[in-house]
Amino acid sequence: MTRCGTVVLAGRPNVGKSSLLNALIGEHLAIVSPKPQSTRLPVVGLLTQDDAQFIFTDSPGLLEPEYQLHVAMRAAALRAIADAEVIAYLHPLSEFPAPPLAEVAPLERAPRALIVTVYTKADLVAPSTDLYRPLPTSTVAVSAVTGQGLDGLLSTLRAALPAGPFHYDPAEMATQPMRFFAAEFIREAAFELLHEELPYSVAVEIDEFREGAEPVYIRAVVYVERASQKGIVIGEGGRTIKALGQAARAKVEALLGARVFLELHVKVLPKWRRRDASLKRLGYVP
Ligand code: GDP
Repeated sequence: MTRCGTVVLAGRPNVGKSSLLNALIGEHLAIVSPKPQSTRLPVVGLLTQDDAQFIFTDSPGLLEPEYQLHVAMRAAALRAIADAEVIAYLHPLSEFPAPPLAEVAPLERAPRALIVTVYTKADLVAPSTDLYRPLPTSTVAVSAVTGQGLDGLLSTLRAALPAGPFHYDPAEMATQPMRFFAAEFIREAAFELLHEELPYSVAVEIDEFREGAEPVYIRAVVYVERASQKGIVIGEGGRTIKALGQAARAKVEALLGARVFLELHVKVLPKWRRRDASLKRLGYVP
């Protein structure tokens, strides 16, 4: 009998949701940044091990919305939590104990799914062997950096998965199209190369994605909110956008396993984070 189900990785911004997803799948799918709130849309990663298929969802961090984009991110996170069969509630081990999920996410109803509390970034805390065993109260401690605790986490989650057939081909590790990841990796490069608040004003739209021949041709628009930001993203003599393109291209090539030609254009989409029509166009609201 096989088991299969959705496991949502939920928690406050910056607790390590994206890093854990990548560590579990063994591939860089979700964007990771020391800056909080880099995940805007849930990223799905698939892991099939023996008789169990895990459908992991890395959800946006649960936060108090400050503007329309946050409202959309929070709604996406809450939908992912409501739809999941198992909730992995992440909290840094250094801030033990975790407050109840209901306190972090004022959910309308208590979720029906089983909650597994996952203490993250265990490598930053002096070793305490007790915390590495799956505990009776569905609590595990993990490190996405060292891989400690990941097997224990998987065996705890496996026991919580419903019995049923696999939903996906066991060889698959993603459900979203490559153009989604291309846009995400351009955003990730923006988080790495642009300073302070600027990455939060960046959105990416893929205009063209031509596979079939090498190099794969991708043309994307990098949107910012104001004309002054456009100048910064382009940089002196186009230096910044060039570096951004190189960083993003390497990431897309790594996932695609093929050479990529990436063409970037920078445009202004005024105040897109606060406008429903822009958020819809960028795919942040359904
Ligand atoms: P998210 O916002 O919850 O998705 O968190 P991220 O996965 O983007 O991680 C936030 C920050 O914590 C990044 O700088 C990560 O490199 C760091 N981080 C995540 N997991 C670990 C871990 O297991 N150990 C350490 N030392 N740092 C981690």
